[in-house]
Amino acid sequence: MKFIKPKDIENLYESLDNNVENQYLLAGGTDINVQINNGTIRKPNIIYINHLKELSGIKEENDQILIGSTTNFKDIIESRIIKRNIPFIHNSLQNFASPLIQTSATIGGNIANGSPTADVIPILLALDAKLMICSKSTAREIFLKDFFTGYKQNVMENNELITKIIISKKAEHKYQTFYKKVGSRNSLAIAKVAVAGIKKVSKEKITDIKLAVGSLNEYPRRLFKIEEYVIGKSLLEIDFEKVEELLNMEITPISDLRSDKEYRYHVCVNLIRTFLNE
Ligand SMILES: Cc1cc2nc3c(=O)[nH]c(=O)nc-3n(C[C@H](O)[C@H](O)[C@H](O)COP(=O)(O)OP(=O)(O)OC[C@H]3O[C@@H](n4cnc5c(N)ncnc54)[C@H](O)[C@@H]3O)c2cc1C
Repeated sequence: MKFIKPKDIENLYESLDNNVENQYLLAGGTDINVQINNGTIRKPNIIYINHLKELSGIKEENDQILIGSTTNFKDIIESRIIKRNIPFIHNSLQNFASPLIQTSATIGGNIANGSPTADVIPILLALDAKLMICSKSTAREIFLKDFFTGYKQNVMENNELITKIIISKKAEHKYQTFYKKVGSRNSLAIAKVAVAGIKKVSKEKITDIKLAVGSLNEYPRRLFKIEEYVIGKSLLEIDFEKVEELLNMEITPISDLRSDKEYRYHVCVNLIRTFLNE
């Protein structure tokens, strides 16, 4: 096992470019250290990134909020910029892990780890966030909705990393927001089901909506079919049997030690109904 602590961001990109076998980034370590300890990851070559200033912090730039990938959840929850512009993030992350884990766990790690239960992903999907993905010679922006390709699989090349998360300052402006994470308890709970959504209503009709779920597929995702169906409709015009039919096409809940698939499905239906009814 090799451990590299790059001296600066250029050095990080060079290390990534060397494309050593079994190479992993280490940010807060709250996922990867567990995976190393339980043997899911064996003999990793680690590149530490949490000390690189360029990757951390929250700032406003023109009409966007930029969150560095190694920004931890405590700093995100306490950020004045986030509270002022995107209170949805501040409010939704209150029950993320525990105060202790919040000081280590990073937003980039939560996304890149790609767990179906990752809390921040449905929230960012509802806000239509983008990721900046960079290597030594490339920099590309990609919508989070296009990032995952399968269970813990994504579009990043071996020499790339997420450098920042980009959210429009207006992402939730004039929208009603909804976030519900259902777990076994309030703190240190892994989501059995999570639903995040924002919607805009005018003259009783839904004029725009973004709806995302976690823990119901191999990775968190938007429910595009339901969004398309409810846009332009008032509550009275929405046929909830149709919503369920569409939901069935978009989620594939599983039974595991935390919950069974029927429970996950019914909770999800109820949460979506609650959100649409609000
Ligand atoms: C006790 C406990 C409670 C937890 N509770 C929750 C919870 O309530 N909700 C929740 O969602 N998660 C929870 N987690 C999981 C974990 O804390 C989060 O997923 C965390 O955000 C991961 O970030 P990290 O910086 O620790 O990632 P790391 O462990 O450092 O890295 C995770 C993975 O992402 C990769 N990676 C890291 N940064 C980048 C980057 N910038 N670009 C590309 N790849 C990168 C790493 O190579 C690694 O594969 C919990 C974990 C523990 C141990």
